Amino acid sequence: MFNYIDTHCHLDGQEFAEDRDAVVQRAREAGCMRIFLPAIDVATCQTVLDVCRQYPDYCLPMLGLHPEEVRADWRDQLLAISNWLSANSQQPKANSPRNATLSKREQPIAIGEVGLDYYWSREFEHEQLEAFEEQVRWAVELQMPLMIHCRKAQNELVAVLKKYANDLPGGVFHCFTGNEQEARQMLEFPRFVLGIGGVLTFKKSHLPEVLPACVPLDRLVLETDAPYMAPVPMRGQRNESAYITHVITRLAEAYGVSEEEICRQTNENVQKVFGIQI
Ligand SMILES: [Zn+2]
Repeated sequence: MFNYIDTHCHLDGQEFAEDRDAVVQRAREAGCMRIFLPAIDVATCQTVLDVCRQYPDYCLPMLGLHPEEVRADWRDQLLAISNWLSANSQQPKANSPRNATLSKREQPIAIGEVGLDYYWSREFEHEQLEAFEEQVRWAVELQMPLMIHCRKAQNELVAVLKKYANDLPGGVFHCFTGNEQEARQMLEFPRFVLGIGGVLTFKKSHLPEVLPACVPLDRLVLETDAPYMAPVPMRGQRNESAYITHVITRLAEAYGVSEEEICRQTNENVQKVFGIQI
């Protein structure tokens, strides 16, 4: 029997418009106890909150501006997202607007997803850096964890985080696919963990060797990144939270521990990083 948490799932996406109830039902049956939903811009802050309202205490929201969504209007996007966050955090800013207030059940549990992505384009490279740093400052100010996306930009990303290293509340480096050196560099940030998903199960993945070599089990959490990154044997299909069981099985093999131990330890890590009781 599995008991786990999907810490990163775009369940608000169009891909799930037709059968979201069935997807959530399958997740519950598979042993998924919570699903965390990241926003990627202002529009998805709304769709994420809508889905979380539909599945209270099961789907939990994270709000932020994704690096691939950083464009010319990034300052307006950040302003709108910061109003939501600060109105609903423990320590609201003095002038946060009242109409953005959410019920306790809808309160964001993290800032995300945020980060840097230079894989497709460096067109907004500087804007991405500024937007990321601004959201890192929010994390410090509001003491909320970060859900971090990073592609082809690890050195730049680590440089920003280092500036705030002593005050960072923690977070997740989501969809980790790097090598040992990259894992070590990320784990130097003490309250951070690596998010592991379907890539672990891919035939050519080096993660089954890299992870046990340098990542202790108390520094990992599970995720789908659904609808993307479906694990083997569902590779190429739409991913969903129920499929994490395949990741757990592969992770247990790699570390030489039981599936129950993977669940127990990753759940404990989630509670520590996000400061919530499951
Ligand atoms: Zn994502």
